[in-house]
Amino acid sequence: MSDPLSYLSAQLEAWRRAGTYQRLRVLESASAAESRFDGHEVINLASNNYLGLTTHPKLMEAALEATRKYGVGSGAVRTISGTMSLHMQLEERIARFKHSEACVVFQSGFAANAGTVSAILGPEDHIVSDELNHASIIDGCRLSKAKIHVFPHKDVAAAERILQGLASVPGHKLLITDGVFSMDGDIGALPGLAKIAETYGAVMMVDDAHASGVLGRSGRGTVDHFDLHGRVQIQVGTLSKAIGVLGGYVCGSRDLIEFLYHRARPFLFSTSHPPGVAAACMAAFDVLEQEPERIQNLWNNTKYFKQGLTAAGFDTGVSETPITPVIVGEAKTAHQLSAALFEEGVLATGIGFPTVPEGRARVRTIVTATHTRPQLDRALDIFTRVGKRMGILRSSAARS
Ligand SMILES: *Cc1c(COP(=O)(O)O)cnc(C)c1O
Repeated sequence: MSDPLSYLSAQLEAWRRAGTYQRLRVLESASAAESRFDGHEVINLASNNYLGLTTHPKLMEAALEATRKYGVGSGAVRTISGTMSLHMQLEERIARFKHSEACVVFQSGFAANAGTVSAILGPEDHIVSDELNHASIIDGCRLSKAKIHVFPHKDVAAAERILQGLASVPGHKLLITDGVFSMDGDIGALPGLAKIAETYGAVMMVDDAHASGVLGRSGRGTVDHFDLHGRVQIQVGTLSKAIGVLGGYVCGSRDLIEFLYHRARPFLFSTSHPPGVAAACMAAFDVLEQEPERIQNLWNNTKYFKQGLTAAGFDTGVSETPITPVIVGEAKTAHQLSAALFEEGVLATGIGFPTVPEGRARVRTIVTATHTRPQLDRALDIFTRVGKRMGILRSSAARS
């Protein structure tokens, strides 16, 4: 009998031939500035652990204490019997932090985006979306069955033309962008987009996954960074990146949050966070306010490392944040570069089509607050050595 799933094996074989087959790297230590993957100690430039909070003693202690007191699971979805006082406290804590009226926490940032967009819009409605928005936004848009209008990356004039064309068309309009784009590290065109959203009466939504804990005062995100308080109706953030734990949240009006309590499908049909997760997240917001030097270190390291890569002759694209891509062109080259770096002691992931456009494949780096100068210097030396060997440096102005 033939295997009805054999077409999957054929696809895997094609990926192996194309050099884009990805074996999972296994982390054998905590996620930190230097970690052990597959038996190798490497400088970790591939995590979203921007502030080093995955191993912060206060977060770990909070998780342990909550686990001892309340167990390892919540027992149900939020709407049945799985809303614990810790979940409510976390939502209040985040709302206060973001200067928002209310907040709902989801199991992940992915669930927050997909669950929110699909809940608040229907087939009669319209979504105006940046072409590089995250997959969870795209899935939420598709699930909503609303009409999707994609505008070229950060092109406010193009987004405005779309909204103009929809001005007399019935239905709600949602204008949606990432706050920081995860593959290029550039910041979304929030001020311009907020302005046209107001002009055309569209709801404005921002996904701040890579801006939470990174941009704005104490890491309050892009709305705070651009001082757009009160002009963005829906702010999404993640608890899985700089916050160091797991989860996603939506901040907005009390009625938006109450509506999501009633209609967001991941909220209604998937079990809430374990108490340890909620408690650790709560501790993280205290740390953001009590240890401002972490965000300062993150940005100092970002500037230092980006400058080092550029001086060596690498193409780092349009990055404005700790996400710094090293753009090499072909997917195969990106994966070869990533493999060579790993052999020399640096973990940085190769990313190709369809995650990024064809011909724009890259190795993506993310520095954190906890990388030391010697670690960054070592990583720069390794990048330069491997880049020279592979012939991907832009100029001969390479560091000696
Ligand atoms: C990582 C990411 C998400 C998903 O967040 P998780 O908490 O990991 O599910 C959503 N949006 C963007 C832009 C992201 O980069």
